[in-house]
Amino acid sequence: MSNPTIQHYINGQISEGSSGQHQEVFNPATGKVSGQVTLANRNDVDHAVAAASAAFPSWADTPPIRRARVMFKFLELLNQHKDALAEAITKEHGKVFTDAQGEVARGIDIVEFACGIPQLLKGDYTDQVSTGIDNWTMRQPLGVVAGITPFNFPVMVPMWMFPVAIAAGNTFVLKPSPIDPSASLMIADLLKQAGLPDGVFNVVQGDKGAVEALIEHPDVMALSFVGSTPIANLIYENGARHGKRIQALGGAKNHMVVMPDADLDKAVDALIGAGYGSAGERCMAISVAVLVGDVADKIVPRLAERARSLKVKDGMNLDAEMGPIVSAAAHQRITGYINKGVAEGAELVVDGREFDTGTTGDGCQEGFWMGGSLFDHVTPEMTIYKEEIFGPVLACVRVPDVATAIRLINEHEFGNGVSCFTESGTVAREFGRRIQVGMVGINVPIPVPMAWHGFGGWKRSMFGDTHAYGEEGVKFYTRQKSIMQRWSDSIDAGAEFVMPTAK
Ligand code: NAD
Repeated sequence: MSNPTIQHYINGQISEGSSGQHQEVFNPATGKVSGQVTLANRNDVDHAVAAASAAFPSWADTPPIRRARVMFKFLELLNQHKDALAEAITKEHGKVFTDAQGEVARGIDIVEFACGIPQLLKGDYTDQVSTGIDNWTMRQPLGVVAGITPFNFPVMVPMWMFPVAIAAGNTFVLKPSPIDPSASLMIADLLKQAGLPDGVFNVVQGDKGAVEALIEHPDVMALSFVGSTPIANLIYENGARHGKRIQALGGAKNHMVVMPDADLDKAVDALIGAGYGSAGERCMAISVAVLVGDVADKIVPRLAERARSLKVKDGMNLDAEMGPIVSAAAHQRITGYINKGVAEGAELVVDGREFDTGTTGDGCQEGFWMGGSLFDHVTPEMTIYKEEIFGPVLACVRVPDVATAIRLINEHEFGNGVSCFTESGTVAREFGRRIQVGMVGINVPIPVPMAWHGFGGWKRSMFGDTHAYGEEGVKFYTRQKSIMQRWSDSIDAGAEFVMPTAK
């Protein structure tokens, strides 16, 4: 049987598009091609945006409670199909199935939030702002909005965007990562089954060309982007140049501080899970352990033992702890960083490059495998400290005290997530207040905010000012309108030439 072609989804139908261009899709566990994804050209993007524009007036006019009912139905279908979605993630991304299940669950949280859209869109009203005059504000949808998403969460990150956008009355064009595109079409199908009118949700597969066409399209009102910092920065600047509302979430280098008073067993568990889970390919992965005082001598040997014994195998095995790296190119990039760390003088305590693929599973010997790597004595000048590696590489930095730890983190260019393990309320409070990072965990290694709180980093981890999902997401996908009203018996005769004031 030949490999499937993963196509666009436009106006309620699968669409082949007109580019004739494709990219191979791999199963990273086997290293084999599992399909090919169509790459959109400008015509395909025009087609999707035209469908979304045509669907907008009647969808925007649909009462919020009826839009919410479509979301409730979608939620029910997602719950029925969540394992199929998780399997699609594992087969194209490589993360272990149980982790993929977690990803789908965190996406479902946002759909649950979007079901509350009537309450979120209620608006404000002031009776009698002046004699006989009332004033109210309401939030209206923008029109066609687009989402451009990364490979590492092919279900959850699109769900940070479209449930809120659609529930608020917009129509949506999703441009998923071409690395793991299949889940986007499963989502489109579930939305259709839920009763979403054709054209409200569309998918254009593709890469740079499709993104440029979306940025330049005059009918796209807003763009949500999640991916690496250089592209996030580019999208923010180009989007602004084309008059669009933009939220662009970028890369990360997340630190976890371990204080001498912390519960060290729990800190070791947290570093292993947050450092090597999803092979470190999470924007909230911990990639730097900041070990205060004598903590390093106590825990580096334990981290090393755990990193060496990670169960690295095909993610469809239920006991797998870490799957393969997403692609051959990513494998090469991560290997390059490990080489550089050694060359720059860090101590490579566990070398994931030496991984033996014998235990990964049947047919997996050609996959993109690597074990967990652990560096000690990493310093702030080193490349492996400064740059995002986005792989299973944990760097330990030794510092004398919490003040040095906070200064180190605040000087880093990224500010996505951070964590501090301590039993001291005073340290925790000071840390939370002084740290220049958008999402902070106290004894929580991966503090991804819940659906109603909103997600976003600081510094070069995010460009734009409204965070993804939560009330900030509703704000991003709507604009405020203020209406003042009076009726003829409260209108004085004669023209007024002075600035109106309250009477
Ligand atoms: P990426 O930047 O390579 O790609 C992201 C999206 O942009 C994809 O849809 C891709 O097709 C598109 N794209 C790639 N090159 C482009 C170009 N030159 N012009 C326009 N569009 C382009 O990111 P990735 O490798 O898919 O994902 C990993 C990155 O995403 C990491 O840096 C990670 O930290 C980041 N990420 C951040 C968050 C967050 O919330 N801050 C969440 C998940 C991932």
